[in-house]
Amino acid sequence: MTQYPHLLAPLDLGFTTLKNRVLMGSMHTGLEETGDWNRVAEFYAERARGDVGLMVTGGMAPNKDGGVFPGAAGLFSADDIANQRIVTDRVHDGGGKIAMQILHAGRYAFGPGCVAPSAIKSPISPFPPHELDEAGIEQQISDMVTAAARAREAGYDGVEVMGSEGYFLNQFLVTHTNKRTDRWGGSYENRMRLPLEVVRRVRAAVGDDFILIYRLSLIDLVPNGSSWQEVVELAQNIETAGATIINTGIGWHEARIPTIATSVPRRAFSWVTKKLMGQVSIPIVTSNRINTPDVAEAVLAEGCSDMVSMARPFLADPHFVKKAAQGRGAQIAPCIACNQACLDHTFGGKMSTCLVNPRACYETELLVTPAEVKKSVAVVGAGPAGLSCALVAAERGHKVTLFEKANEVGGQLNMAKVIPGKEEFIGLVDWYRVMVENSDIDLRLGVQATAADLDGFDDIIVATGVLPRDPEIPGQDGANVLSYIDVLRDGAPVGDSVVIVGAGGVGFDVAEFLAQKGESPTMDLAAWKAEWGISDPEVDRAGLAPGGPVPEAPARQITMLQRKSEKLGRRLGKTTGWIHRATLAMKDVKMVGGVNYERIDSQGLHVSFGESRANPDQIVAENVVLCAGQVSERSLVGQLSDVSAQIHVIGGAETAGELDAKRAIDQGVRVAASL
Ligand code: NAP
Ligand code: SF4
Repeated sequence: MTQYPHLLAPLDLGFTTLKNRVLMGSMHTGLEETGDWNRVAEFYAERARGDVGLMVTGGMAPNKDGGVFPGAAGLFSADDIANQRIVTDRVHDGGGKIAMQILHAGRYAFGPGCVAPSAIKSPISPFPPHELDEAGIEQQISDMVTAAARAREAGYDGVEVMGSEGYFLNQFLVTHTNKRTDRWGGSYENRMRLPLEVVRRVRAAVGDDFILIYRLSLIDLVPNGSSWQEVVELAQNIETAGATIINTGIGWHEARIPTIATSVPRRAFSWVTKKLMGQVSIPIVTSNRINTPDVAEAVLAEGCSDMVSMARPFLADPHFVKKAAQGRGAQIAPCIACNQACLDHTFGGKMSTCLVNPRACYETELLVTPAEVKKSVAVVGAGPAGLSCALVAAERGHKVTLFEKANEVGGQLNMAKVIPGKEEFIGLVDWYRVMVENSDIDLRLGVQATAADLDGFDDIIVATGVLPRDPEIPGQDGANVLSYIDVLRDGAPVGDSVVIVGAGGVGFDVAEFLAQKGESPTMDLAAWKAEWGISDPEVDRAGLAPGGPVPEAPARQITMLQRKSEKLGRRLGKTTGWIHRATLAMKDVKMVGGVNYERIDSQGLHVSFGESRANPDQIVAENVVLCAGQVSERSLVGQLSDVSAQIHVIGGAETAGELDAKRAIDQGVRVAASL
């Protein structure tokens, strides 16, 4: 008897059956744009072999106007159709099913030729759109229908029509973006006309035995978004127009409310999907922040939806469903919703991958194969670099001994996991522990490895991490001065006023930790919704609380400082930095850049400004917390001069600057793959 009876139950769509209730949601990876169709095919085929019920591709442009960016992939030629055939054939060989997403970006398209119902520029794009005329609208519909027909020709099992997240079809639905007075604007009947027309004509073009998913925005989270009554009316009309499945969209991209970041509670929006259950008779999919089989099972068991969509979890572990079905749920590599290697890469114009699984999207390049010569390998340090290296080396058949001076694995991840909003790191450390336990790795906790311990190994991996940088501020040895390690790892008491020296990732983490009073809102859905001003869309249009965000009072008065004169937090993650800045702004954290640190005394920190050290000031605070970055800890390397083994220095021990878990894990896996 499986632990996940709802999740693993087949779903009969009449003309075809999905093997379970799991949909891999659409993700833009950048793979299609490489033109390497074997690589694209392997990405999807690996997930098909992992038994996911149905996959949706990244968004394909129906025409040049609607591409998210110039050069976005689409089915424009016979060659495109033949290339996509490589993907669909490989997926079918792997036992999977795949639908192609048709994504018309409308005013979100990053190009001067973008089009929209009305010429209103979006706050997240520099390009004002052109208002479409009647012929222009007809052309867009016709191009979307052609894309669907070509998808069928290319061997897809279906299409998903993207109607949410503030894209083109969504832009027609609401008065926020549709100011038209013709038959495509004004009354709701007119505003719904475009999405309904698209679904109706796509259905007519592809026939009855083809999956047609409509992704519908259930809670827009923008002013003048859809009311709940409108959402229900649309869903019912979409069913009548011929959709097979309704998938869920949460929030427009321009909404200033986080919807998928790690600080969003798990399954934070399944209650919204539940409201739609019973209003239509076709299956409904829920999504957002579902990342374990237990959460997915609970969502289905509680009747919130008929299927669950997970996207990023399939970057972290392509075999999510297979492992759940085999009772190996604890071995599923968890998506921690960090966005660091997926969405941040996409928005930075880079190929997506995954912090936890650097092989994601590199399936044909980063190969983990059995080692030809089995070696004895010592890994020193069980932080993310050492752990990933040890696991992959062991998987390849090497005999691995992993030394860790602390009494637990995880290294710096153990500090990240205590930050409010970063609870997912707990699951990541747990996963590493489980994987080490299930491997042949000889784990030696509480052992600071010496040269003598390392004698006789073929290869030694030094993954000893980092030490805090000494900022050399006069008076920093005072009793009121703490390091981030004292605060986050050792639980040192901190007074009611605090000044933080350094505003990198760790400075922000410490500020969020010290600002939070009581339980993290990430663990309390009602508190989190209040903090971001989310309400019931049945009561308030688009789910925006009339009073706006109501954050909890800060636990203490906090000032953050840095020497650079740029905005604090400018270098944080592309898609998540704004959330950290907004969170701290809501906690009245004062941020000051361009300072010189003059000295610390029992009253606080003395600073001045600029090269002339002008405007001396004293920031009165009970405690000063040093978060001034890190330096490599590689003292062990100096002791290994007489050792004959091959030595590899990885992670923070190699380069401390700009170090994060993404680089550490990636380097660990790559070194292990090459041993
Ligand atoms: P960091 O990002 O390099 O930031 C170091 C901070 O210390 C900067 O604000 C820097 O600003 C200041 N600083 C540098 N040298 C100093 C000196 N000699 N005296 C005083 N201040 C000094 O390092 P981190 O905050 O320790 O973070 C380490 C890594 O972990 C980073 O790569 C970070 O991205 C990553 N991380 C990421 C997250 C995340 O949320 N994604 C969270 C935690 C950590 P000034 O030089 O302007 O003073
Ligand atoms: Fe999830 Fe982070 Fe991996 Fe993206 S990079 S898939 S958010 S763990």
